[in-house]
Amino acid sequence: MEDGVFTVGIDLGGTKLLACLIDENWEVKEVMKKKTKPDQGPEAVVDRVVDVVKTLIEKSGQSRDRLKAIGIGVPGTVDSAAGTVIYAPNMPGWSQIAIGAMLHDRFAFPVTVDNDVNMGLLGEYHFGAARGYNYVVGVFVGTGIGGGLIMDGKLVHGANNLAGEFGHMVIQRKANSRECGCGNRGCLEAYAGRKSIVQKIASRARDGYTSMFKDIDFNTLTSNKLNNALIQKDRLVTKTIKTACQDIGVGIASLLNILDPEVVVLGGGIIEAMSDFMMPLIHQAVKNHTLSYDTRKTQIVLSQLGDYAIALGAASYAFSQSQTLSPSRHL
Ligand SMILES: [Zn+2]
Repeated sequence: MEDGVFTVGIDLGGTKLLACLIDENWEVKEVMKKKTKPDQGPEAVVDRVVDVVKTLIEKSGQSRDRLKAIGIGVPGTVDSAAGTVIYAPNMPGWSQIAIGAMLHDRFAFPVTVDNDVNMGLLGEYHFGAARGYNYVVGVFVGTGIGGGLIMDGKLVHGANNLAGEFGHMVIQRKANSRECGCGNRGCLEAYAGRKSIVQKIASRARDGYTSMFKDIDFNTLTSNKLNNALIQKDRLVTKTIKTACQDIGVGIASLLNILDPEVVVLGGGIIEAMSDFMMPLIHQAVKNHTLSYDTRKTQIVLSQLGDYAIALGAASYAFSQSQTLSPSRHL
């Protein structure tokens, strides 16, 4: 960025929003967190975002007219070109919400809106684990499994803004395959997302498997608690996570066979908490199931930006889009 300008990137989650003010050297200068409260409706959320942006600018001591652009990542399907949230499953009532236009009305600066996982991947592409690569696949294993795709240096949205939904790759197609949150059966997410891992551990514990988690409230089973169980060699947890690594590896092998990326970035709460255990197992499973794996130069790496990935990616996307919006395009 040129001297003295700054951008704001916002990770607008279903529960909380994280906003970062980023200076011309792409350094995070100010950070703020706030509850999103999406149930209060889009207008109220926009008010909260406006408050956060104003406070960030005040705290930084920057002049407001040096703000170059605002970028937002939202957990859902987004029509990025229109700045509209089409559908956000964790934000009740958020369907066809033109949040980009609503914010633009309040700030008169360019505002971009995109899917949060896409923005996280873009963050890793510009500043983190995928720097220097042009063909990038991202697989993020948290409560569910999200994905994103960069081909020839460009983020791929697809014809319907639905590209990169790697969590819904079907890896099992029997009649009794596990049901996924999307309504289909046999999706990768239904086998290897945190929710499904916890469900499996709970049901096996009820069936009599020995585990340190026999009598707990399974809603409290976080990624860190799972990691502690791995370290203590809990057999049920170890077995379940090993199987999840196999499933994730098989899914990634298909992505390698179809897309032939230079790098696969793995992230999300589950993988970040248990990376030492999971990364080698996933790598081995990918190796076992990919066509001509040994002749490829594909790297499989861990994400680096953690909680800041989405806000940083959203800021960089907003900045790059603001550069391409010449005045003639507005006429
Ligand atoms: Zn699914």
